[in-house]
Amino acid sequence: MSTVHVRIGKYRSAYHTDAACPSLNGKQDTCVGRESMPEEQARAQGLTACRHCRK
Ligand SMILES: [Zn+2]
Repeated sequence: MSTVHVRIGKYRSAYHTDAACPSLNGKQDTCVGRESMPEEQARAQGLTACRHCRK
């Protein structure tokens, strides 16, 4: 099982496999942080895989 990164806040809709993804680190004004969780858990929350992330 892989660990993914998600933004904390209401604007998140995707999970990221790349911790350096621009979508994960951009728009800091609307982002209060980020957290890591198993990919399964992210999917269970309705999040989808980020299309900008490259493994
Ligand atoms: Zn991403």
